[in-house]
Amino acid sequence: MSDRLPGFSTLAVHAGAQPDPTTGARATPIYQTTSFVFNDADHAASLFGLQAFGNIYTRIGNPTNAVLEERVAALEGGTAALAVASGHAAQVVVLQQLLQPGDEFIAARKLYGGSINQFSHAFKSFGWNVVWADPDDIASFERAVTPRTKAIFIESIANPAGSITDIEAISTVARKAGVPLIVDNTLASPYLIRPIDHGADIVVHSLTKFLGGHGNSLGGIIVDAGTFDWSTGGKYPMLSEPRPEYHGIRLQETFGNFAFAIACRVLGLRDLGPALSPFNAFMILTGIETLPLRMQKHCDNAKAVAEFLAGHPAVAAVNYAGLASDKYNQLARKYAPRGAGAVFTFSLKGGYDAGVNLVSKLQLFSHLANVGDTRSLVIHPASTTHSQLDDAAKTKSGAGPDVVRLSIGIEDKEDLIADLEQALSA
Ligand SMILES: *Cc1c(COP(=O)(O)O)cnc(C)c1O
Repeated sequence: MSDRLPGFSTLAVHAGAQPDPTTGARATPIYQTTSFVFNDADHAASLFGLQAFGNIYTRIGNPTNAVLEERVAALEGGTAALAVASGHAAQVVVLQQLLQPGDEFIAARKLYGGSINQFSHAFKSFGWNVVWADPDDIASFERAVTPRTKAIFIESIANPAGSITDIEAISTVARKAGVPLIVDNTLASPYLIRPIDHGADIVVHSLTKFLGGHGNSLGGIIVDAGTFDWSTGGKYPMLSEPRPEYHGIRLQETFGNFAFAIACRVLGLRDLGPALSPFNAFMILTGIETLPLRMQKHCDNAKAVAEFLAGHPAVAAVNYAGLASDKYNQLARKYAPRGAGAVFTFSLKGGYDAGVNLVSKLQLFSHLANVGDTRSLVIHPASTTHSQLDDAAKTKSGAGPDVVRLSIGIEDKEDLIADLEQALSA
């Protein structure tokens, strides 16, 4: 072997995986088992006491899931990762390690609609208070910091309009405030943006989208950058204080630069329970093997479709950061030079009715609530994913009544453009 570090495409195929030591199976087997036999009583006790790593029970860890965790950690440049049942589960598990009741976290206003809902309502019942800031106005993050702030949460490429977030500028705010920066990297995937390279301390994903990539399996993952010092000022007691459930060990002291991933596993996943099925881990791993190929095609197709729409007389505006005229194009060139992703919005001169009409006339595009599928998808956010917001909040989050969102697949771009052409002229 040479001392060359493997490149991204090599990691996407190989990271974390070995031929199965017992059978020689080359693809990662699905270890469809709830539990694992201990060698002896001492081995069992050391696993339960966190003195040894190993398999106990699939709610806490599973060998198929472990390959997925190692692979995504490698692709993102983190120290460790934890796979969970969905993107939303990842968000709950991350914040549970950071916030006590009455604490606050700052979140970008432009987010996946489900995250806006989760933060505003479900998290409120845990006593976790979200404070919204505007990702286009970095000072709004600074103004939102209080002594109770425990984290900042942003999306790298933000739903629904595919806008690009200035991760480095917001990481500077986080650093000054002494809190970790959490980046939801779902729409970019590590092929387009690696947030840890730009100052993120924690990366979360909905694996359901581009990483799995085939619209067939839910999953989520948390990546620990290993960059944050959890011991400062007793602000993060889950990590810095003795844990009664593990004979009084302190996670940061014991696990160092992957303590956060361990906390998510042994305090979050173990006790809250949103474990990923090994079958889904297998499907998602298979998807990740082709991530670089798919993502490039997604981006190239999206750019061609955006250019077509921008030149169409029925279209009022196209929001795609990959267009030279777009207000996020500078940031796209800096953060996502290979392509500005495949999820974007546009608005029609005919407003709400024209949007609804277009969605009903499209044939190749599927009308559904997902993104990051091999298939091209369309949705009208104002009446679906963002319908829980009032009109002002819809517009602020990029989901006004005239807006249509596309997630461009990996079909032939000529066919996608022809479908849009017929639907726009119908
Ligand atoms: C889909 C999505 C989520 C939630 O993930 P699930 O797997 O559906 O729970 C979170 N963030 C973004 C950006 C998403 O697109």
